[in-house]
Amino acid sequence: MPILTRLIPSPVVVDIRPGALADLASVLADQRISHSGRLAVAVSGGSGARLRERVAPSLPGATWYEVGGGTLDDAVRLADEMKSGRYDAVVGLGGGKVIDCAKYAAARIGLPLVAVATNLSHDGICSPVSILDNDAGRGSYGVPTPIALLIDLDVIRETPVRFVRSGIGDAVSNISAVADWELANRVNGEKIDGLAAAMARQAGEAVLRHPGDCTDDGFLTVLSEGLVLSGIAMSIAGHTRPSSGACHEISHALDLLYPKRAASHGEQVGLGAAFAMHLRGDHEGSFLMAASLRRHGLPVLAEDIGFSEDEFVRAVEFAPETRPGRYTILEHLELSPDGIRKAYADYAATLTG
Ligand SMILES: [Zn+2]
Repeated sequence: MPILTRLIPSPVVVDIRPGALADLASVLADQRISHSGRLAVAVSGGSGARLRERVAPSLPGATWYEVGGGTLDDAVRLADEMKSGRYDAVVGLGGGKVIDCAKYAAARIGLPLVAVATNLSHDGICSPVSILDNDAGRGSYGVPTPIALLIDLDVIRETPVRFVRSGIGDAVSNISAVADWELANRVNGEKIDGLAAAMARQAGEAVLRHPGDCTDDGFLTVLSEGLVLSGIAMSIAGHTRPSSGACHEISHALDLLYPKRAASHGEQVGLGAAFAMHLRGDHEGSFLMAASLRRHGLPVLAEDIGFSEDEFVRAVEFAPETRPGRYTILEHLELSPDGIRKAYADYAATLTG
């Protein structure tokens, strides 16, 4: 009998709860991630200082490293500083930039990475990708999936609510991204990974339909889990398809065309997703998504984040160029600027009417 199941690259520890940070040392020891307690901990210069004060007493064997910024150079420098230390693991303690830098540095020196996410702004906390700025703009670098992931909900609640909102938009956008993947499968025969699609979609649906809000632990737990599952779905698929379709192309276009004015990643991809659902003809799904985003204080119209209709139309027109080779509803419809304008007016009317 053939046994052809597969192994999924995934963390050995996922610990999401209030107070998780206080148990970091014992979790690492129990799970044999670090017996000696020799850890290289990466934190940011700013808000990292307070975290360090809080966590340092429970990690006496740790050496602390300050992460400069979110560039490739910062990550390489961090790796160089850490490489002579004979550590068991690297701990990335902070937001997206710190974790992305730590992921890359850990991969470079061959150590496992423990991600301790202090905000929920996007689905990169547990993904096999490190996003870093380089000379050419911004690059995505493949790295191993973190060996452990901790999210302390008490810490999350202390961060500005806009970070949580951003994570909501990123998680919910999975629903549209998976629909784009299915479209590419139907039209172009692109291979779809059913397990990765299932995990990504369920993560989005759970966040979309949860009745709670950013102030309650039940909702924050589902959102955290959703972002973790999105990351693992990307590991399974081997690319970002499960979490990135037209929604993300539109967001990348806004980033590139209006660099100083861009809103948060999650705000943009959420809006992009609701619009892409409408373009796909799923008006009910689009309406449901927009209602959920609105309920959490996220934008659903271009004007909500300060873009005129013309500017948004231009971004949607430019969007396919941000990800050459990725087939989504935008590449499928190949709308003219007038077609986009009409579709956007129709979308806006559905939401307000
Ligand atoms: Zn995203």
